[in-house]
Amino acid sequence: MKIHEFQAKKVLGEAGVCVPRGVVAETPQAAAEGFTALGGPLAVVKAQIHAGGRGKGTVKDNPQQRGVQVVRSADEAAAVAGNLLGRDLVTVQTGSEGRTVRRVLIEEGCDIRRELYLGIVVDRAAARPVLMASAQGGMEIEEVAAKNPELIFREPFHPDAGLAGFQVRKLAWRLGLTGATVRAAEAFLRNLCRVFVENDCSLVEVNPLVVTGDGRLVALDAKMTFDDNALFRHPDLADLRDLAEEQPAEVRAGKAGLSYVKLDGTIGCLVNGAGLAMSTMDLIKLHGGQPANFLDVGGGADLDQVIEAFRILLDDKNVRAVLVNIFGGIMRCTTIAEAILAAYREVGFSVPLVVRLEGTEVQQGKKILSESQLNIITADDLTDAAKKVVAAA
Ligand code: ADP
Ligand code: MG
Repeated sequence: MKIHEFQAKKVLGEAGVCVPRGVVAETPQAAAEGFTALGGPLAVVKAQIHAGGRGKGTVKDNPQQRGVQVVRSADEAAAVAGNLLGRDLVTVQTGSEGRTVRRVLIEEGCDIRRELYLGIVVDRAAARPVLMASAQGGMEIEEVAAKNPELIFREPFHPDAGLAGFQVRKLAWRLGLTGATVRAAEAFLRNLCRVFVENDCSLVEVNPLVVTGDGRLVALDAKMTFDDNALFRHPDLADLRDLAEEQPAEVRAGKAGLSYVKLDGTIGCLVNGAGLAMSTMDLIKLHGGQPANFLDVGGGADLDQVIEAFRILLDDKNVRAVLVNIFGGIMRCTTIAEAILAAYREVGFSVPLVVRLEGTEVQQGKKILSESQLNIITADDLTDAAKKVVAAA
């Protein structure tokens, strides 16, 4: 689960990580009031969407307006907020359709001396979290990682012990921090690592982390992602979820207990098991097609879940053919066959359907389908199924 920058900054601030003061606004009027409340000669208006690259991103119908802008009066704050609110912001991370801005963050202007990068992720190979830092802040870290990986410093740390003092000093030295900033780094980095562990994060990213004119360290941007499987331990964090930022079909699938990720191809896939779903997508691509989604109905899906899965697939206007690929282990092929009939009765199939069944109760499953007289293309193995569905689409 992702959250907005203003929410992440609140979580970080409460954990003792230094963040700028800010006010969230949903109207230009509130943005003006926010500017006045901050009391500074200047402030920064920042679009709140679940995507980065806002500083360089532009509003769809108004390319002059960027997603992050310095303002010097309450009127200007209102004007910029008016340009952003309700509009679509296009950044390198949003795709060309952009994301609708529903809130802006009005934040005190920061006196930036240097922009650094900090990120924490789980390193699966090391089986612990790893703090990544770079002096190349403010820019896209993916680019630094690709071109100059030696400029990114990595410090894995034990989740219980946190970041050790010597690791802080090593990083401070590598980042070129001096004087009081080194002492500030100790609290900052250790608190950040603690936040990551305590909240079951899968990502914490501060880009840029800035060194201010007076030598303080401030998280000027903040991105946090939480492990969905641990959210039950954090009801307060679960409340921060913004469904408006998520794909409606993915939200719907989540409610039905299905793992669904929308993609932009034309072949709908209904598969049980994440591994089989991945290989099904690979095979579709190998044979020249493009999957419209990843969909894992799970090992033990029941009739209702499978019917809901069909509804979600067939709701996607890009879908020109559907491939059902089931390996019946716990799931019985008869359940799938019955779900296909039920889905046909309920929603009808306006697109060709290719079905490959294998495993538990496969003969009975195939019998149900053949006796139904429905127009179904059957396939015997994966390659056969992939070729048939690509041809049908
Ligand atoms: P994004 O990563 O989505 O582009 P950021 O929050 O990183 O958004 O902001 C982009 C740039 O805007 C930062 O690198 C920084 O230079 C500037 N900026 C952001 N917030 C402030 C602020 N409070 N004061 C001064 N400059 C800021
Ligand atoms: Mg940023």
